[in-house]
Amino acid sequence: MKVVLQNLTKKFPGRNKKSRDEVTAVDHFNFEIPNGKLIGLLGPSGCGKSTALNLLCGLLKPTEGRIFFGEDDVTNLPAENRGVGMVFQNYALYPHLTVLQNITFPLENLKGEAKLTKEEMQRKAYEVAKLVQIEELMERKPSELSGGQQQRVAIARALVKMPRILLMDEPLSNLDARLRLQTREEIRRIQRETKITTIFVTHDQEEAMSISDMIVVMKDGAIQQIGKPQQVYDDPVNLFVAKFLGTPPINVFRGRVQSGQLYIGQEAVLNLQNVPDQELHVGIRPEGFVLQTDGPLSCKLDEVEVMGRDITVVSRHEESENTDIRSIISAENAADVAGDTVRFALKPAKVLLFHKETQERIYFETI
Ligand code: ADP
Ligand code: MG
Repeated sequence: MKVVLQNLTKKFPGRNKKSRDEVTAVDHFNFEIPNGKLIGLLGPSGCGKSTALNLLCGLLKPTEGRIFFGEDDVTNLPAENRGVGMVFQNYALYPHLTVLQNITFPLENLKGEAKLTKEEMQRKAYEVAKLVQIEELMERKPSELSGGQQQRVAIARALVKMPRILLMDEPLSNLDARLRLQTREEIRRIQRETKITTIFVTHDQEEAMSISDMIVVMKDGAIQQIGKPQQVYDDPVNLFVAKFLGTPPINVFRGRVQSGQLYIGQEAVLNLQNVPDQELHVGIRPEGFVLQTDGPLSCKLDEVEVMGRDITVVSRHEESENTDIRSIISAENAADVAGDTVRFALKPAKVLLFHKETQERIYFETI
């Protein structure tokens, strides 16, 4: 089922009595989620992710705009009639019910033609339990399960009615690091098998990048960029998006363009075309540095971290906006690093320029 958001907007009245400024939690969202895809809704805490999800599932009414599931306008449809499955961070299982009863719960209230017998409900519950691999746990209570298992039960419960859309709000946040990795792979597999259009909310860029077909990057209620994870990483539209994606994060320098050359401090580090003289932000991805004894960018060497396949060179520069500059170099080149200074050449495709004030991307060509 494709999902279309048209001008979707949600404003909340100011909470503070003195300042009655409205909060625009979701600001004119216009985009289409293709059928059967997994979309990552990504942004820092407070940017409006949960509000967007609650508009989609019907727990909140929009201030403006419309929502379509396929050709159906669901904007005014109550939550229970939208056919959405929801999974939350805190699992929200019923503690006094068994796993089986938790999963069949959404089926108990079906009326009329949709009404199911006890056997039918159990059969459906076992089907989804198999899908999320918890068939062995059906008679347990939630308190007898690990966090990862509880979240699988919550996913099974969301899937048992075969929803048109599956919405997940930070579903992995309560799990420890190892389970988080494992469960996100599981979610990916389940989504591929069921082909249910899924919207997955997270503030964790790595999580969103690793499982999404498409990511939507948000800031302060507004969409910044939509695209495939790799494309958004390679080609961010502004400094916010560039900084938000990538571990280690992008290195940002104060720089300037003068007569077709990009300067960081006194050093001309790249020849460029089509950029007028100006001061700007220079972003360099960690993988954009090449160790080179006569390289144009010289930094003060701090330390070298060996990570097996790669090494991370940690250095400093007066014009760096980050305290540490982190560059990732393949391990064969490690021997080149010694002394107080390290010199780099730059890979032009990994150098991203941003306007000094607006922080919008400035595109350039190299000679
Ligand atoms: P996220 O899920 O990305 O952390 P939210 O959608 O929860 O963000 O919140 C977005 C913004 O809307 C925040 O500024 C938050 O304080 C505000 N907000 C959310 N819910 C309400 C509400 N019920 N009343 C007033 N303001 C709200
Ligand atoms: Mg939230």
